[in-house]
Amino acid sequence: MKINPDYNSQEKLLELYNKPLLELIFEAAKVHRQYHNPREVQMSSLLSIKTGGCPEDCGYCPQAARYQTDVEAHKLMSVDTVLEQAKNAKANGSSRLCMGAAWREVRDNKDFDSVVEMVQAVNDLDMEVCCTLGMLNENQAQRLKNAGLFAYNHNLDSSREFYGDVISTREYEDRLNTIDNARKAGITVCSGGIIGMGEAIEDRVGLLWSYMQMENPPESIPINALVAVEGTPLEDQKPIEQWEMIRMVATTRIAFPESVVRLSAGRTKMSMEAQAMCFLAGAGSIFAGDKLLTTPNPDFNEDKEMFSILGLISKEAFAGGEKPVSLPDPLIEERKKRELEREVELKNAREEAFKNGFEPRKITVS
Ligand code: SF4
Repeated sequence: MKINPDYNSQEKLLELYNKPLLELIFEAAKVHRQYHNPREVQMSSLLSIKTGGCPEDCGYCPQAARYQTDVEAHKLMSVDTVLEQAKNAKANGSSRLCMGAAWREVRDNKDFDSVVEMVQAVNDLDMEVCCTLGMLNENQAQRLKNAGLFAYNHNLDSSREFYGDVISTREYEDRLNTIDNARKAGITVCSGGIIGMGEAIEDRVGLLWSYMQMENPPESIPINALVAVEGTPLEDQKPIEQWEMIRMVATTRIAFPESVVRLSAGRTKMSMEAQAMCFLAGAGSIFAGDKLLTTPNPDFNEDKEMFSILGLISKEAFAGGEKPVSLPDPLIEERKKRELEREVELKNAREEAFKNGFEPRKITVS
């Protein structure tokens, strides 16, 4: 992914961010038209496949176990439930499904095997599959890639300098390593940030600067407005002005002309007019469906109406890259083979025992 060489320093990025707003939007709209079809906006759905109970302390997140919020913890969804939800999202116009699990990191266990199966199943529906599962190593990234994962989401959230004010249980460097592991496996990267957490303008620019320093910046950059949830340390943060969201989208668009800028959390607080400005300034995707993991989002029908009023069209899946091939997962195949062998062994042992006159013990209850 290309960066814009005209803004290759933090000072230049800050100058860009602070441009007179209409100038900024105009410049962003020009860049957007040069690299993207401005009428196309991708509808993506975000599904919480494992909710709550997370050991991390991200100050904005209602899923952290240590905060008293209304979020009810749920264990991992079944593959069938995910498939059903994916079909529903597709029927409503989504061409990408992002599956989120509130984990600190991926562990090599049965739950991860299930996620691998979910990726295979959703990829078979011809939807782009994205996962956000916390930190992951190179092997895990490779398994997801082989299963057909199109993108891995891992946000940097803010600048390196501000990050520690919001999260203390893992380092900025850990996040960069996970992004690197996804890259090495050949998975496209989705990584962005949240504005409105109390950061300075320099931190918003600092976030973009972190991506500029990457050898290969993210294909997708989600821009979120903080949804301040009661019970989290950031519950009292004032909502940001809609203009700030538009400004951030426009700056990101200009700095990373080829990436997809995703207008993400916080849309319920934005008017249709403000969202229209974001599309004009280069937002190429929204999250559709009434829930964004655990926070509210406009429902499918509202978005369909907005698309019709603004003359937007849904972007097809894989417009920005080839559909990955889902390969069989050797570890899952091996596990299934072992389970089958064990079943056969048990069946044979049972038959053998009956042949030798075994009679099940009768228990009489007096
Ligand atoms: S953002 Fe993710 S890692 Fe942080 S607390 Fe929430 S679920 Fe856990």
